[in-house]
Amino acid sequence: MALSPEERRRKLRAASEKRRHMEHEDEHHPQDSYYNEERQRAQRRLRAERRRRRQRRQRIMAIVAVIVGIALLCGIIFLVRGLLSGGKDKDAEVQQELVQDGGAGSQDGMTELPEESTEPETEDARLETMAEAERLAAMYDYDGAIELLGTLPEASTDQEIQALVAGYEETKAGLVRQDISTITHVFFHSLIVDPENALDKERWGTQADGYNSVMTTISEFEKMLDEFYEDGFVLVGLHDMAHIEKTADGQEIMVEGDIMLPEGKKAMVMSQDDVCYYEYMEGAGFADRIVIGEDGRPTCHYVDEEGNEHLGEYDLVPILDRFVDEHPDFSYKGAKACLAFTGYNGILGYRTDETYDPNSDMFDEEKEPNYNIEEDRETARQVAAALKEDGYELASHSWGHRDMSQRSLEDVKRDADRWEKNVNQELLGGTCDIILYPFGSDVGDWHPYTHENQKFDYLWDLGFRYFCGVDSSQYWVQVGTDYLRQGRRNLDGYMMWMDLSGQRDKLSDLFDDVGAIFDPARPTPVTQ
Ligand SMILES: [Zn+2]
Repeated sequence: MALSPEERRRKLRAASEKRRHMEHEDEHHPQDSYYNEERQRAQRRLRAERRRRRQRRQRIMAIVAVIVGIALLCGIIFLVRGLLSGGKDKDAEVQQELVQDGGAGSQDGMTELPEESTEPETEDARLETMAEAERLAAMYDYDGAIELLGTLPEASTDQEIQALVAGYEETKAGLVRQDISTITHVFFHSLIVDPENALDKERWGTQADGYNSVMTTISEFEKMLDEFYEDGFVLVGLHDMAHIEKTADGQEIMVEGDIMLPEGKKAMVMSQDDVCYYEYMEGAGFADRIVIGEDGRPTCHYVDEEGNEHLGEYDLVPILDRFVDEHPDFSYKGAKACLAFTGYNGILGYRTDETYDPNSDMFDEEKEPNYNIEEDRETARQVAAALKEDGYELASHSWGHRDMSQRSLEDVKRDADRWEKNVNQELLGGTCDIILYPFGSDVGDWHPYTHENQKFDYLWDLGFRYFCGVDSSQYWVQVGTDYLRQGRRNLDGYMMWMDLSGQRDKLSDLFDDVGAIFDPARPTPVTQ
């Protein structure tokens, strides 16, 4: 049945008017204001109820605190009386009893807290747990994500959760095991914040040439991160590549890790050398120390040309942290980079070495004494712990930046002992098992290490199991019986310039166009 154009227009007009009217009605539905008021009342009730609950909880906590306080006070009085009357064993018993009483008392107090169901809070917790599981799965920790979801009380009944779990299981089934012998390892030095300053030859002389050659600027590093990510690289740790296992007879053997990634993703190790913020770099346009930021995570301290202090993204760590926050799939189970320290200027920007300690026999007259050394050591310990917590591995770079292949065995030993004492034991809790050789200079040639090699043997005895030289090829990995060895490639001004000027081709597997990364602030040619 065909309508005339006039009729069609009329019908359309009528329909649109009707729709408008309905929308209009929707907006001003007579019942709507009632619903709104009802909802607001309900919210007010909920708020009031929460407030009451909070106050009740605070009252109960206060009572519990008083009870515990009285119990402890009684304990002290009993203890003192007991001590005065002798009887050591009895004192211990009394003390123990009292401690137990105190503990039980406070626990009883806690269980008296009302366990009312708090719907919105439970829902928040559920969403939080699901978001955390999503993050774990994004970092390829599917088991962790599934386990976390399993902790929710409704895990076995909630369809949304079950769908998430099924999705993770499916992705997991399609993962590919990484061939660890083809994992590339890239490394950097301190990033240049202000190239106009650092690369100013008039100001810094040949040092500026050094910075131009072995350093990378922040803008270059950020462009590299983007390209790594787009190319499907995923950061893994050296400890993910392989780990030590003990055999039945107590022998230590290095075993390849199972790094499982989705098709198209490839593992990469990243490291940064000399994270010490050396004295000679002061004022040259670099960060000067790593501190713990307000959020409890490591960040950088930087003083600009005008002398203004800044906290933030002034070196690799906070830049990489933000990048992984934004792209959790750039990190395998939270792995970030490996940071290497020498010892002679302290670590992380703190002058912690004994050669700065005016009270030490090892004090170096040529250094400015650090009268604040104990406090600085404690800060360095806390920053190192925060870095580990944040996914960073920590490594030795020798104490005195020694060329280990050239130095005598005695010299290598003496230097390793100084690092062990001043850095590993003093600041890292004796946990370090990685060495990134200064100058990339290895204690052996490409043949597998044996314990006949006395330098290797000494380092091994100190606890080192991971050894990295510099080998600018795409990858070089050696899994020994009781160690892992990997070559690294420097992504710095010199390397980029060699590629740009067509003298070498060492970067084309990583970057489509080095020219787009190379900082225009660099003077050229870049010389070694
Ligand atoms: Zn170095």
